Amino acid sequence: MVGAGPAGSSAAYHLARAGVDVLLLEKSRFPREKVCGDGLTPRAVHQLIRMGVDIRAPGWTRSRGMRWVAGEHRVHIDWPALGRFPDFGLTRTRHDFDDILARHAEAAGARLHTGWKAEGPLTDRSGRTVDVTASAGSAEPVAFRAPVVIAADGASARLALPMGLERDPKRQIATAARRYYLPG
Ligand SMILES: Cc1cc2nc3c(=O)[nH]c(=O)nc-3n(C[C@H](O)[C@H](O)[C@H](O)COP(=O)(O)OP(=O)(O)OC[C@H]3O[C@@H](n4cnc5c(N)ncnc54)[C@H](O)[C@@H]3O)c2cc1C
Repeated sequence: MVGAGPAGSSAAYHLARAGVDVLLLEKSRFPREKVCGDGLTPRAVHQLIRMGVDIRAPGWTRSRGMRWVAGEHRVHIDWPALGRFPDFGLTRTRHDFDDILARHAEAAGARLHTGWKAEGPLTDRSGRTVDVTASAGSAEPVAFRAPVVIAADGASARLALPMGLERDPKRQIATAARRYYLPG
C-alpha cells in the first residue's frame, strides 16, 4: 500500500483485519499537517465508527450540517437523516487525523513505514505491478514485492501517472480556506 492518507490507512486497516499481510509506505512522518477543510460527512463518520475509531475522545467536534457562503448568499443545510448513517458530521484537524487512522491500521496488524517515499511501480512481463521501489531519505531505493499494490498516494499520483492514469481535465476544481477559533 502506498500512502497512509485516509484511503490508504482505511484500506490497510480492513485488509489487516481480514488477515492480509499489509505493508503501508508513507513518505511523511506523523503527525503532519495537510491541506484540508477538516470536515467529515455522516458517511465518513459511519466508516470511522465501523473501524472502531473512538470518536468520543477529545479533539472531535460534531457538526449539524454545512453552511455555504458565496458572496452575499448563505445557505445552511443540515445533514439529512439517512437511516443507517449518523445524523451528525465531525471535524478533526488533519494534523492528527491521518496519524490516528495510520496507528489504527497498525494496531490491526498493518506494518507502517513512515519516511519512505515510493519512487514508482515496477511491472512484470504482463504489465502487472509487482514491485514498488521506495527510498528513505538519501538512501538507495529498495524494491518491495507484493502480490497486490494499492496506490493510495492521493493527488500526487506518483504511482498512477506511470501506469497511464491521468487527471481528467474536465473535472471541476474547488478552493477552500479554513480558520481555527479558540474559545474566549
Ligand atoms: C483545500 C482542500 C480542502 C479539503 N477539505 C476537505 C474536507 O473538509 N473534508 C473532506 O472529507 N475532504 C476534504 N478535502 C479532500 C481530502 O483532503 C481528500 O479527499 C483526501 O485527503 C483524500 O485522501 P487520500 O487518502 O486518497 O489521499 P491523501 O490524503 O492525499 O493521502 C495520500 C498520502 O500518500 C502519501 N504519499 C504521496 N505520495 C507518496 C509516495 N510517493 N510515497 C509514499 N507516500 C506517498 C502522502 O504523504 C499522503 O499521506 C479537501 C481537499 C483540499 C485540497
